[in-house]
Amino acid sequence: MSFRFERHQGTATGPRRGTLHTPHGAMETPAFMPVATRGMMRGILPTQLEELGSRMVLANAFHLYARPGVELVQKLGGVHGMLAWDGPILTDSGGFQVFSLGALGKVHADGVRVEHPVYGGSIDWTPQLAFETQAGLGPDVAMLLDVCPAEPLDQKKCAAAVERTLAWARIQRDLHDARGGAASGQAQFGIVQGGVFADLRERCAQALVDMEFDGYAVGGVSVGEGHEAMMRGVEHSTHVLPVDQVRYLMGVGTPQDLIEGVARGIDIFDCVFPTRAGRFATALTDAGRMHLLNAKFKDDDRPLDPGCPCAGCVSGVPRGALRAGFKAKELLPPILVSLHNLHYVHDLMRRMREAIEAGTFEELRRRVLAAYLPEKLAGDPS
Ligand SMILES: [Zn+2]
Repeated sequence: MSFRFERHQGTATGPRRGTLHTPHGAMETPAFMPVATRGMMRGILPTQLEELGSRMVLANAFHLYARPGVELVQKLGGVHGMLAWDGPILTDSGGFQVFSLGALGKVHADGVRVEHPVYGGSIDWTPQLAFETQAGLGPDVAMLLDVCPAEPLDQKKCAAAVERTLAWARIQRDLHDARGGAASGQAQFGIVQGGVFADLRERCAQALVDMEFDGYAVGGVSVGEGHEAMMRGVEHSTHVLPVDQVRYLMGVGTPQDLIEGVARGIDIFDCVFPTRAGRFATALTDAGRMHLLNAKFKDDDRPLDPGCPCAGCVSGVPRGALRAGFKAKELLPPILVSLHNLHYVHDLMRRMREAIEAGTFEELRRRVLAAYLPEKLAGDPS
């Protein structure tokens, strides 16, 4: 099956229901993708992912290039073999990670000079290398290498990042064409940069649309600009993007950001947040975030989230035992809460899909925002 997005309902700038078809199967949207940065989920078995509601998984091309390397990944069956995952996979080019490694001062016209994260020394991570790496790894969707501005509130820096992002986009788009485009079995998404500035976002989005990518991402968000500014960056982008193509908001995954992204026309998301929060003893519930290290949970004999069917909650390990286990640095509590959080986020996406179909999205949005904005702790008197 080839790559295709089917829009069932919704507009360019409001909540949308769709199906993303890939060579490794379809995914109903809006949807969330869990993150296996180095080709493995932390503490979650590949066989558990589908049970939790995962359909498409994200891995990071830059990290897989660094270790174990493209040749070894190919010997292990490509990125699908390495993850032991037959469903769709998207790889990020590593643009965001490269810049978060502190390489920003080393961006040059042809690429980014960055320290090798495993062996030291330097790598010139270029648009060509990002493209070839992803062509070799074999995900269903490859992301462009873009330039992520470190300061999304600095107009001059954002403008420079947009221009370089577009120059690199052209190079990678031509390489994609030469390889046969999406018919090669791999789709390619452009990434809209431009920080919080409407004119920059619009210019970047329009120039990418003119290059005709297989899908589009909104990048350079969730880098410290705050929720409101992030959502303005989304709004400045989505109205320019083609209504019938898939839109992906990168690196976003708190319940409030997910529902506000969907409200503005985003179809897919990825984020380490649900599993990272789980490792740090924070559970996501309909009543808000639950911080399990809080002393009030020490003799709480209830399951993590009563009524939740996930393996973490069904295990029956009570809140007080999770708290004690976290304090003792046991392995199991981070796994159980990660399982729960991933299930929670996937289930929230399922509820969004159903609410869009039923015409009750705004009602769900109000409920989620009441629990998550401003941050509210589960069990606190309201
Ligand atoms: Zn649960």
